[in-house]
Amino acid sequence: MHRGSCLCGAVTYEIDGEIGAGYYCHCRRCRKASGSVMAANALIDPASLRITSGGEALRTYFAEATGLERRFCGLCGSPIVSHRPATGRTAIRLGSLDTAPPHGPGAHIFVASKASWEDLDERLPCHAEFPPL
Ligand SMILES: [Zn+2]
Ligand SMILES: [Zn+2]
Repeated sequence: MHRGSCLCGAVTYEIDGEIGAGYYCHCRRCRKASGSVMAANALIDPASLRITSGGEALRTYFAEATGLERRFCGLCGSPIVSHRPATGRTAIRLGSLDTAPPHGPGAHIFVASKASWEDLDERLPCHAEFPPL
């Protein structure tokens, strides 16, 4: 069981299951959504995620172009989870966790579009876009 929350504490959640493969995403969209150089995400089973409080504060931004739904706290702006309706692929924002995941992200993705000012740490495998399946 893992627990997490947003910055203001309104939104809390539990993950009743494993935290899957994690990755650091350096794409332009994740930079905008996080306000930082990259996003740290990990795949989860969408059925394992339960919003335990603040569900009414959650907002959803759906980008037609990418088919990705980003859910964040409407009060403090913290990104919480992303979901791709077409595939069911769901990723939790690791920075929102209050419990320690079993391992950190294992790769960098979308490094081809990383910020010009980023000094990329290449100790983990780096993929230009999505890694091969
Ligand atoms: Zn919040
Ligand atoms: Zn990204």
